[in-house]
Amino acid sequence: MDNTGQMKTLDERYYMPAFSRDMAIVKGQGSKVWDGSGREYIDCVAGIAVCSTGHCHPSVVKALCDQAHELIHCSNLYYIPHQGELAKKLVEVTGMHKAFFANSGAEATDGALKLARVRTGRKKFVAFAHGFHGRTVGSLAVTHKPAIREPFEPLGMSATFVDYGDLEGLKKVVDSDTAGVIVEPIQGEAGVIIPPDSFFEGVREICDKTGALMIVDEVQTGMGRTGTWLAIQHTKVKPDIVTLAKGIASGFPMGALVAREGLEFKKSEHGSTFAGGPLACATALATIRVIEETLPSVAAKGERFRAGLAKYNPRVRGLMIGITVGDKCPDVQKKCAEAGVLVNCAADGNLRLVPPLTISDAEIDQVVKVLNGILG
Ligand code: PLP
Repeated sequence: MDNTGQMKTLDERYYMPAFSRDMAIVKGQGSKVWDGSGREYIDCVAGIAVCSTGHCHPSVVKALCDQAHELIHCSNLYYIPHQGELAKKLVEVTGMHKAFFANSGAEATDGALKLARVRTGRKKFVAFAHGFHGRTVGSLAVTHKPAIREPFEPLGMSATFVDYGDLEGLKKVVDSDTAGVIVEPIQGEAGVIIPPDSFFEGVREICDKTGALMIVDEVQTGMGRTGTWLAIQHTKVKPDIVTLAKGIASGFPMGALVAREGLEFKKSEHGSTFAGGPLACATALATIRVIEETLPSVAAKGERFRAGLAKYNPRVRGLMIGITVGDKCPDVQKKCAEAGVLVNCAADGNLRLVPPLTISDAEIDQVVKVLNGILG
C-alpha cells in the first residue's frame, strides 16, 4: 500500500520544514531503492555517499542484528564491544595513530577542532570557500556557505576563508596563532571539485612552517569512496587529523576522527554518551569487511562512468562523480528519477553521483544510458 500521502501529511503538520522533498523511499536492496508506490530506482545518491555497501547488505544487517540481541548500549564508562577492534582497523587503513568516535560528520569536525585547539593552545582556524564541514555551531564556523552560517553568528568560533586551491592566499592568513587548517580532499557539497595534488602538498608545507594542524575532512570522500580508503591517500601528504562519517557504517549513524601520534584527547577533554556504541562499532566493522572486498573494483567502476559520460566532462575520482549541468540541474534530477535513477544536485548546478561502492557494471551502464538520454 502506498502511504506516501499519509507520510507527507504528517510531515507537513508535525515536522519542521527544513527539508525539500516530494518522494518517500521505503525499501532498499543493493544499489536499488523503492518508493512508496513500489517503483524501483538505481540509487546514485546512496544517502549522500553513506550507503557504501549498498542497501541492507546481508553481512551488515547480520552484524547489526546480532549485536542488537547482545547489547544495544552501555556507555563509555565501560569497555564497549567492538570499539577497540574498530579503532585498530581505522588506524590501520588510514595510517594514523589513534581514533575517537562521534555520531555524525559534524560531530567529527567538532572533535577535530577541539583536538586542534587543546593540543596547540591556539584559537584560529582557516577553511576554504565552498567547503562544507557540518551544521553544529562548531562545525558551522568553518563551513563557508554564508546562507547557512551567517544567520547563527556569532558562533563563538570563527574561521578565515580562503579560495579552494589558493596557496598564496593561504600563506597570508595561516600564522603562529592558527590551530588548524581544515580542508576537504575533494569538495563534495560544492559539486565534486578536485584540486591538483600540489595543493595538498602546499597546505602541508604551510602547516609545517607555522605549526598549524592539517585537518583533512574525509566525511564524504573517505572509506573507499574514491578507490582508496582516504582520498588524501591519492597524494603523498600525511595529515595531522582526519575526520570520517557517512560511509563508515552503511547508514548507521557514526563519525570518527583519527589522528597522528602525539595528538590525542586526555581524560575528560572530550566525550559522548552514544559515540562508539556497540551497534555503531559492530556495523562499521562489518561495513569495512565489505569495503575491503569491494575496494579493488572502485577505480574501474569510476572509469566506466567516465567513459560513458565523457562528452559531459565529468569530474571522476572512484565513485565520486560530478558533472556541471548548470541551471537545468533540478530538472535533470527530476527526469532521472522519472527514468528510474536517483541523482542529486550539489551546489552551483553540479550533478553529483555517489552510488554504493557495490554498484554493478550493468547498473552503471543503465545509469549512463539514462543520463545520456536526458543530457543529450
Ligand atoms: N563534512 C563533509 C565533507 C560533508 O560532506 C558533510 C555532510 O555532508 C559533513 C562534514 C557533515 O556531516 P553530517 O551531515 O553527518 O553532520
